[in-house]
Amino acid sequence: MALVTTPATVLKTYEYSETSKILRLLTRDHGLCSVIAKGARRPKSRFGGLLEPFTDGLATFYTREGRELHTLSGFELRRERQALGRELVRFAGAGLLTELILRFAPSAPDRELFRLLGRGLDRLLEVGGDAEAMILEEAWRLIAQLGFAPSVDCCSSCGTVPAAEQTAHFDLTGGSIVCARCRRVGRLRNLLELKPQARAELAALISGRGENGQTLAASRLQRHLLRDFIAYHLADERPLNSFRFLDERLG
Ligand SMILES: [Zn+2]
Repeated sequence: MALVTTPATVLKTYEYSETSKILRLLTRDHGLCSVIAKGARRPKSRFGGLLEPFTDGLATFYTREGRELHTLSGFELRRERQALGRELVRFAGAGLLTELILRFAPSAPDRELFRLLGRGLDRLLEVGGDAEAMILEEAWRLIAQLGFAPSVDCCSSCGTVPAAEQTAHFDLTGGSIVCARCRRVGRLRNLLELKPQARAELAALISGRGENGQTLAASRLQRHLLRDFIAYHLADERPLNSFRFLDERLG
């Protein structure tokens, strides 16, 4: 049995028995971990009320070789983000970022992924402006770190860079744009039309260039493109639950 201490973000919690909780954590040094916090649901628990989603802390737990569920022995609060609950769109966005991690983070630790998640949650908590643009940017950033960034600059089959004023199509299956000619000959399904402005917007979201107050002209299209891209590339065509919640908030 080994005792481990690492910075961690709470992704999700489950009630377990009358008194305990199971937490899914993204940790900086050990990747995704599940820990049981014994007694955490008791009113006078030593963990206090800290063990909620989006909270950062220094987690200490016992690990045992071959076991998937570790035993939490301490959680030193570094940052709680309960205020995210006051604004439902931002709350839904935080849910999207954490669901992305829960479902697709590799088991090996990834310090940059850990940093980016914390950064995204902080932005949603602290920075004003168009929450939807921010959510999409932060989600694309995590997807890029997971190794799935799409290509929107040139056609995936012939490499042509479509002129800025041309309409292109995004090939959801291929994960990149295709030019008009390849689209005609390629018999591609699952294409989404991207008018010039929407393509520029997508490129800005993916690159993070539009940061500092971007508002989206084609917000619904961008949201659904992200949703469908994730479904095709990461999720075996099962959309993330958090998108349903986000869609209900944004229409
Ligand atoms: Zn082409």
